[in-house]
Amino acid sequence: MCKEPRIGNTFFTGNCFGTIMPFLGFGQFDSILTGIYAAEDLSGNGSYPILTKSIRKSYERSLTLRRAMEKLSNNSYDLLVKQLNGPIGKRLFKPSRRDPLKIASYLIRPFL
Ligand SMILES: Cc1cc2nc3c(=O)[nH]c(=O)nc-3n(C[C@H](O)[C@H](O)[C@H](O)COP(=O)(O)OP(=O)(O)OC[C@H]3O[C@@H](n4cnc5c(N)ncnc54)[C@H](O)[C@@H]3O)c2cc1C
Repeated sequence: MCKEPRIGNTFFTGNCFGTIMPFLGFGQFDSILTGIYAAEDLSGNGSYPILTKSIRKSYERSLTLRRAMEKLSNNSYDLLVKQLNGPIGKRLFKPSRRDPLKIASYLIRPFL
């Protein structure tokens, strides 16, 4: 993750911003968003550092989940994967307005 999303006339977008989610390795959507936000800033319709704040927050939440995942043992992984085949998995993969990963990261944070 970059310290500053913009230095002078240089905008850090995509991988250079640090859009890859540490938890699942996704990043295409946020990469495209950083391009759009940079264009909005250049056209005078917003501030790139402010527009990218939500991506930075999402990165931090994802990092919490990644750190939790790294503490798991093989048996815990087996249990987790088994659970994905049940109601927890259904909830996680079903389109919803609520972000289950956001909730999970808040719940896990005090234990890390
Ligand atoms: C193995 C793997 C699997 C992934 N799976 C997913 C997934 O399932 N879902 C998801 O959302 N994200 C996934 N990602 C992450 C996603 O690919 C990246 O977050 C996203 O592609 C980053 O976009 P970008 O435009 O910043 O960089 P890139 O997509 O890497 O684009 C940069 C481009 O710049 C070109 N380039 C580099 N240097 C120069 C130069 N000097 N001159 C001209 N061109 C140059 C490169 O050739 C490249 O085409 C995955 C990443 C990896 C590595």
